[in-house]
Amino acid sequence: MKSSLGVYVHIPFCARICPYCDFAVEAVGEAVGEAGRGGAASGDWRETEDRYVEGLLAELALRAATFSGRSLSSIYFGGGTPSLLRPESLARIREAVMDAFPPGRASPEITLEVNPSTLERERLPAFRAEAGINRLSVGVQSFDDSVLKALGRAHGAEESRRTLEAARRAGFDNLSIDLIFAALHQTPAMLEADLDEAVAFGPEHISSYELVFEARTPFGRALADGRFSAYPEEASASMVERIEERLVGAGYRRYELTNYARPSHEAVHNRRYWQRLPVLALGVGAHSTDPPGPGRPYGARHGNPRARVAWLAGVEAGAWPIGEEERLSRADAMAEACFLALRCAEGLDEAGFEAEFGVALREPFGDAIARFLGEGLLEQIGPGHLALSRRGRMLADTVCAEFV
Ligand code: SF4
Repeated sequence: MKSSLGVYVHIPFCARICPYCDFAVEAVGEAVGEAGRGGAASGDWRETEDRYVEGLLAELALRAATFSGRSLSSIYFGGGTPSLLRPESLARIREAVMDAFPPGRASPEITLEVNPSTLERERLPAFRAEAGINRLSVGVQSFDDSVLKALGRAHGAEESRRTLEAARRAGFDNLSIDLIFAALHQTPAMLEADLDEAVAFGPEHISSYELVFEARTPFGRALADGRFSAYPEEASASMVERIEERLVGAGYRRYELTNYARPSHEAVHNRRYWQRLPVLALGVGAHSTDPPGPGRPYGARHGNPRARVAWLAGVEAGAWPIGEEERLSRADAMAEACFLALRCAEGLDEAGFEAEFGVALREPFGDAIARFLGEGLLEQIGPGHLALSRRGRMLADTVCAEFV
């Protein structure tokens, strides 16, 4: 694992922007759907898509040396809506990444985020056969049309059902469903119905995210000026509990705070972030995790510019690095090792921490650990292994913040 690599590819385009979204995204309009079928807007969109893909390949060439010698374990096409790209565009990127970083013995996990829409549904067979995608993450969010409408989503529940069915028909045997909870007027009964329907489809993986009101989004502004009120904390905490109960009862394992999987279907790529393994991230607003190297003994983070114009100008001029760089200090790395491990079911391994940093875990963090054990927010799950308790998982942000 130490010499492996995950590659994240950010595709910033969405047909329209959801009012709660804080990702690096830009609206390309519903016309892109038509362009995908050779409609009126096809010329402009095709040019935008092709130039962006060229930019990704240029950035890959500029950045590959930092990660050289690593074997590819995963590619994740995220966004935005990466399934707006043509299958042949995704295939070009996948081939270039695999040429730069030949995979080891096991074949890499290649995930594509998909939004339920007619265009993307039609492309599923080509995503599988031509682009080599072997895992789909479907942005269902809810099977309740009133929730989807309130969230400003472009799709309806029926589109999700058709997309999931089409994905199975196209041969995808590794499907993940994204669900959102604590979403505006969503009631516990509505959440229950979402969980029932998700489980009934039998996906290999389910992620559940709480709706967050990010300050710079229309929803964040509505919250700030009182047009929305935040979901009651207690109600959202009991939803977290109910999600775990329901999904674990249906045979999924909670392997991370918000992620559930059937045995052996944990997301290879996503786990890299919690395990602090290197990720080369390409595209606007993408964040890389660079491995330790000269001048960065604990690795570094790189953030690309969020504006496509600035990112393209850099990569087309061959002028990377172009974004922010943060070289991790030993203290940063120790904090990360704790709070990321605590997010995962395996918890925090005290011996592993000491082997990596040359200091016992309880030296820097003894007070916080003793307090959280006393308050029942942390628990000992085996010799030298600490994890969040059931109550600790409800208050995960508070516990994790103590390690920073
Ligand atoms: S589809 Fe996803 S990435 Fe696009 S705007 Fe909506 S939430 Fe953001």
